[in-house]
Amino acid sequence: MGTYRISFTLRKAAIQVPACETAEDLNILHLGFDNTDSIQGKCTTHLAFKIADYLLKKNEIKFVDFPLLIRLNPNIPWKTRGNGAVCLRIATRGSEHIIDYVKNFISLNSDISNGANPGFVAYEGITIPTSVRQFSRTALYNVLCLNDAEKIIENESIQCYKCGNGHGSIGALAAIGCLLEGDHTFEAISYRTEENVGTPRSLNEQLVLKMSAVTFPRTFNNIDAVHKRILITPHGPDPVFCGIRGEDPTTVLKSLLSLQTTEVLEGYMVFRTNQGTNMHLQNQLALSQVKPFMAGYVRGTVSKIPYILQGGHVLFEISDIARDTYPVAVYEPTDLGRIAKQLVIGDVVDIGFGVREEQSGHSRILNLEYLAVLRLNSIVHTQNPLCKVCRKRMKSEGKGKGYQCKECKIKTIKKYNVTVKRDIVEGFYLSSNKSHRHLTKPLHRFGRENSYPYVPGIYPFPNPNSFHRKGHLNDRTECRSF
Ligand code: ATP
Repeated sequence: MGTYRISFTLRKAAIQVPACETAEDLNILHLGFDNTDSIQGKCTTHLAFKIADYLLKKNEIKFVDFPLLIRLNPNIPWKTRGNGAVCLRIATRGSEHIIDYVKNFISLNSDISNGANPGFVAYEGITIPTSVRQFSRTALYNVLCLNDAEKIIENESIQCYKCGNGHGSIGALAAIGCLLEGDHTFEAISYRTEENVGTPRSLNEQLVLKMSAVTFPRTFNNIDAVHKRILITPHGPDPVFCGIRGEDPTTVLKSLLSLQTTEVLEGYMVFRTNQGTNMHLQNQLALSQVKPFMAGYVRGTVSKIPYILQGGHVLFEISDIARDTYPVAVYEPTDLGRIAKQLVIGDVVDIGFGVREEQSGHSRILNLEYLAVLRLNSIVHTQNPLCKVCRKRMKSEGKGKGYQCKECKIKTIKKYNVTVKRDIVEGFYLSSNKSHRHLTKPLHRFGRENSYPYVPGIYPFPNPNSFHRKGHLNDRTECRSF
């Protein structure tokens, strides 16, 4: 590649552009897409990997951010798996042919025959319109409709391509609106070749354990130590071989390469993501606002004593400051039931939740994602006092008449209050990592959040272009240099 000068004067942002360009020739293009896969196959991140490969071969474009993998509201019932959408942000001279290419690529490579409803949006501009950013924020915790997306697409002159019921454009628009300026993480995802998709994935477990032990907490959720399970590989017939999550692009990539996979893979790409950030649980909701499939958190007091259902699930009730109440379900696989069942009426808690809609025989319910016990109510039991002389329990003389020791004949009117020792302590409780959602923030990340004020072209990271590779992971000769 040729020489570069650092200059991009449109918004005082420094961006590497080919020396022959003038700033006016370059546009920032935001490409968002979603819903290209089905449960039978394909994967939106894989499509992004292929599109990035095409874009990287073109000299006139530069990535201005890592490819973004944005997880949206995990409670959306019509999601395929993890409700992920993708955004690619590039600086380019000629947008039209890129937009055409992506449009064609998505229409040819989406799993439309198996129910995918792809959506693709392309927006040209340095700053993302406020309406798009607001839409994106809402898509993290609430349910949006196609109409909401279409209005913004029209008002902001966003180019849009959609297929099937067009639902994919909701996620696509939300992806370009998410700048990930606050907390974020990275995932290095490796992809299988077409002929291997659907066959069992083979990994050296010892190397995964070693990598995890050496790199934690810079990588996380590689293994479920309690249940002795590897978590980096999916199980379905999709093209993902494995993914390593962590705090920075270099660590996740090095960790991926350390696995020395013997299967010949198609390549890898590192995404910047909102995984592991709890981004869906940022809104404090009043219980009166709660609607099916929303996500958020509420502060309140336990208003009904927990009881254990068949299968080890626990149900209790929470009441908020307005005295609205809601049932809260704690499912057995989360391992939080053993904490929740110790709650008593009056305990002050914060709960992170997703809302399950009413189903036959069951009311609407908050499915617990995390439990913060803020204040334990003290449980005081009244007992008959002990005799000071013989230490035996005194007998009541009748209502309001005090107590007497039958042996020593000593009398008292004082009751004896005993504070019961609680079996839990105040603190933050999170489900076991096997039941984490993509967005669930692991305990060790609290207080270690990343931040990234988004300015196109200014990165606190190494060049994002060097975090994509087509070719087998162990064959260094195929590694593209940038
Ligand atoms: P994968 O993770 O395998 O890529 P997925 O789980 O992301 O798949 P999709 O097939 O993309 O699932 O389906 C999710 C659908 O829900 C998309 O059409 C997306 O536009 C839409 N969607 C995402 N967030 C919301 C939301 N907040 N409100 C309404 N629709 C949404």
